[in-house]
Amino acid sequence: MSESEARPTNFIRQIIDTDLASGKHTSIHTRFPPEPNGYLHIGHAKSICLNFGIAQDYQGQCNLRFDDTNPEKEDIEYVESIKNDVNWLGFEWSGEICYSSNYFDQLHGFAIELINKGLAYVDELSPEQMREYRGTLTQAGKHSPYRDRSVEENLALFEKMKNGEVEEGKMCLRAKIDMASPFMVMRDPVIYRVRFANHHQTGDKWCIYPMYDFTHCISDALEGITHSICTLEFMDNRRLYDWVLENITIDCTPHQYEFSRLNLEYTVMSKRKLNQLVTDKLVNGWDDPRMPTISGLRRRGFTPGSMREFCKRIGVTKQDNTIEISSLESCIRDDLNENASRAMAVLDPVKVVIENFDGETETLMVANHPNKPEMGTREVPFSRELYIEGEDFREEANKKYKRLVLGKEVRLRGAYVIQAERIEKDAEGNITTIYCTYDKDTLGKNPADGRKVKGVIHWVSAEAGIAAEIRLYDRLFTVPNPGAADDFVSVINPESLTVLHGFIEPSLVTAEAEKAYQFERIGYFCADNKDSSADHLVFNRTVGLRDTWAKIGD
Ligand code: ATP
Ligand code: MG
Repeated sequence: MSESEARPTNFIRQIIDTDLASGKHTSIHTRFPPEPNGYLHIGHAKSICLNFGIAQDYQGQCNLRFDDTNPEKEDIEYVESIKNDVNWLGFEWSGEICYSSNYFDQLHGFAIELINKGLAYVDELSPEQMREYRGTLTQAGKHSPYRDRSVEENLALFEKMKNGEVEEGKMCLRAKIDMASPFMVMRDPVIYRVRFANHHQTGDKWCIYPMYDFTHCISDALEGITHSICTLEFMDNRRLYDWVLENITIDCTPHQYEFSRLNLEYTVMSKRKLNQLVTDKLVNGWDDPRMPTISGLRRRGFTPGSMREFCKRIGVTKQDNTIEISSLESCIRDDLNENASRAMAVLDPVKVVIENFDGETETLMVANHPNKPEMGTREVPFSRELYIEGEDFREEANKKYKRLVLGKEVRLRGAYVIQAERIEKDAEGNITTIYCTYDKDTLGKNPADGRKVKGVIHWVSAEAGIAAEIRLYDRLFTVPNPGAADDFVSVINPESLTVLHGFIEPSLVTAEAEKAYQFERIGYFCADNKDSSADHLVFNRTVGLRDTWAKIGD
C-alpha cells in the first residue's frame, strides 16, 4: 500500500530520543491499556499505532494490558475483540497479555503499605457527603471526620472491606493527600471501593476493587514501563500517578506523557455513547459499518494499512483538534485506487436489449486494473440483454452528458459501442427497456469510419449477472460534533444506510469477505464479512470514488 515510508516524529519520540541519548533509559517499554468495556475505535487506533509503533521503531517492547478494575462494565467479549483488533491492525504485544487484575494481590499490599505509613484511611462518608466535602475548583475541601483514624483501626476496617463484611458504598479507602490542593484529583482520592461483582478474570475472589489512578501507575511500574502514554484529560492525574509511586516501595518509575485524543467529525468516540447505540439497537452491533470502531471500519472495507497511514498523517500533538472524515477516507481511497481489482456492478438497473446481437453469450477479457497489467484479466460475459445504471440513460441531453442518450452512441466499458434506438415504459412512465444496436467492429477499437464516441458506461450481463444487495453508508450523524448535542441520539442521520438491489458481474460471486473491489465508476466495495453468502450476496460501499465531502466552494 501507499503507506509512507518515513518514520513519524512527534514530541513523544523526541522525549524518547533524549532519554536514550542521556542514558536515562537504555530500552523503551510502552503499553496499550484498554479497559475491556467496549470495542476499540479509531481513536484507540491512534494510541495503538503510537505505542506499538514506538516499540517497533526503537526495538523496544509494548504490552497489551487490560485495565480491568470495573468488573460490572467489563466483559470477556470485549477482551477477545480487543486482541483481535490489535492483531488485525498489524501489531503483536510483547510476551503474555497483561491484566491489571493480575496485580490485585500486589495492589492490595501497596494499599496496606500506605495505611501503615499513615497515607491512607478508611472513610465512611456517603458518596453525596464525599462530593460535598471535596469542595470546588475555587474552594478548598474539608477533612472527613474519619481522616485521622489510627493505623490499626484503618487496617482492621480495610480487612473487613476485603472480607465482604461491609456493604457497597458504606466504606472506601482514600489516600490522605491534601484536601486544599488546586488539583481535585489530589483531594484524598478514593483508591479502593467495595463491589460485590463477579470479575471476568478473578471470579469472586475479590469484593474490593482498586481505582484507576491507583492501579494504573503501579501496573506500569510492575511491568517496567518507561513511557506511559495517555490522553490529555489525564494531565492532572499525573500528580497522583507520581504521588502513589513516590510513596510505595517499588523500584521502577515510569513517566506519564499526555497527547491529544483523536476526534472525528460526524461521529462519537465515547464508549458510553457507542455502547448506547448498540444497546438501543440504533445501529446493528459494534461492528456496524457506520460505527467508528475498528471492527466496523474493517467490515466496511478499510484496510489495516489505510488505518495506520491515517494515524501517521494526523500525527501526535498536545493540541485538541477534530479531524474531517475526508482525511480518513482519502487514506483508504489512496490505498484502494492502487490495490483494488476493478469489477462491474449496476446498482439501479435498467434493462438494455441489443437487438442486432444474436447468438450465444460472448466472453470478453477485461483488465483487472487499468495501470497494473500484473493484476491480470478476468472473463466478463456479454449478452443480448444487459443492465445499465438508470442514471446513465436520458431520452434527451445536452453535450455535457457523456452517457447514453436516445439516438446516440456510448461505449460499454471493456466491450462494444452501442446506440439507443427506442425505449419502452411502464404505465407510470418509468423506462423499463432500452432497445439498442451495437457496432460489432468496436471491441477494443474505435469505430472504423472515424466516429467519435466519448462516453463510457458500465454494465452487467442480464443473463449471467448475479443479484446482490448493496449497502451504501453515509455519515451516522447530521452534525459535525454530535457529542456536543444535548441528545446525541436526536442527531442520528436517518439516511445513514441505503440498501439497494443490483446486479454484479459473475466474477464477484467468489469475492472474499473484506477484499476490496472498485466497482467501476461507482466506488470501492467489499463483500460483507457477516451477512454475505453464496445464496445472498451483500456488498458494502467502503467509500465513493471521489471526495463528496469537500465543502462547496473549496
Ligand atoms: P472512553 O473515555 O470512551 O471510555 P477511554 O479513553 O476510557 O475511552 P480506554 O479503553 O481506557 O478508553 O482507552 C485505552 C487507551 O486508548 C488509553 O490510553 C486512551 O487514552 C486511548 N484512547 C482512547 N480514546 C482515544 C482517542 N479518541 N484518541 C486517542 N487515544 C485514545
Ligand atoms: Mg479509560
